Amino acid sequence: MLTFFSGGTGTPKLLMGMKRLLPPEDICVIANTGEDLVQSGVHISPDIDSVVYALAGIIDRDKWYGQRGDTYRTNDALSRLGHDELLRLGDKDRATKIYRTMLLGSGMTLSDATKRICEALGVKEKVYPMSNDKVRTIVRRGQEDLTFNEYWVRDRASGHVDEIVYSGSDHASLPQDAIYDIECSDAIIIGPSNPITSIGPILSIKDAKYFCKEKYTIAVSPIIGSSPLSGPAGRLMNDLGHEVSPLGVANLYDGLIDAIVIDTKDEAYEAILEDRGIKVLRTDIAMKDLYKSKALGRNILDFLVIN
Ligand code: GDP
Repeated sequence: MLTFFSGGTGTPKLLMGMKRLLPPEDICVIANTGEDLVQSGVHISPDIDSVVYALAGIIDRDKWYGQRGDTYRTNDALSRLGHDELLRLGDKDRATKIYRTMLLGSGMTLSDATKRICEALGVKEKVYPMSNDKVRTIVRRGQEDLTFNEYWVRDRASGHVDEIVYSGSDHASLPQDAIYDIECSDAIIIGPSNPITSIGPILSIKDAKYFCKEKYTIAVSPIIGSSPLSGPAGRLMNDLGHEVSPLGVANLYDGLIDAIVIDTKDEAYEAILEDRGIKVLRTDIAMKDLYKSKALGRNILDFLVIN
């Protein structure tokens, strides 16, 4: 079994490839919940839903959130009533969130609610929230404390970010059944997700860090050259004083990874990383389509067999 640490875009792309290479019982995913929020009365877990929709084969692959072919009638109707939502939810996507809110309201944990949603959507892989405890990513910009979506969706990543805080992580733990599956895993794959806002919150939970040190852990770079493939990772890394490169990513995972997957074009970093004792797999890491996701998945599996 392999455990993946995931955000909502890069790692779900990889999971779509891995799904075609491994049986479902061999895939365990720990999804970031630092961006969870309540909007229009429903509990949104953006990264859990992207993982689940990707594995169910229903994700909107243009936006990498929500369901393919969804409609926006409720969102439009809410706007007409004078309530503009920060996140534009599709109708079918909203149904998932309503169902989650009902399950949580009945006393279920987020991991049990996630399991129920997976069953309903035919997802057989194991998907867990990083914690059933509340951990929230706070973007500190000057005197302001923002949620990730206020920073990214509302403010379009404007202004200089001074600090990122994972509020609540000191007292948070991984869900118990996730711990069991990680213990049974042959390796941990830190997926190609934003190291600051998607992977950072997961690693802020001490059990997650512990398992990275205990297990063979390989990270996939979300950065090629000096640019991320999407999202604010480059901006945030730069604001927080980290080099925006595969080396910068490896530095953020210092002491936690045995190996890193970098792009073919990033030959310049290979020797530096290997000098630091980090094994390198250099291959095509831009997953433009399913074929590329599967090819990357296969290369990682072959690398893991040898190492
Ligand atoms: P979020 O929750 O939507 O922010 O999603 P993630 O954190 O999972 O994904 C965003 C990160 O994925 C960005 O830093 C991108 O650079 C990275 N990413 C997106 N597509 C790809 C891809 O095809 N290959 C790789 N290596 N990284 C990608």
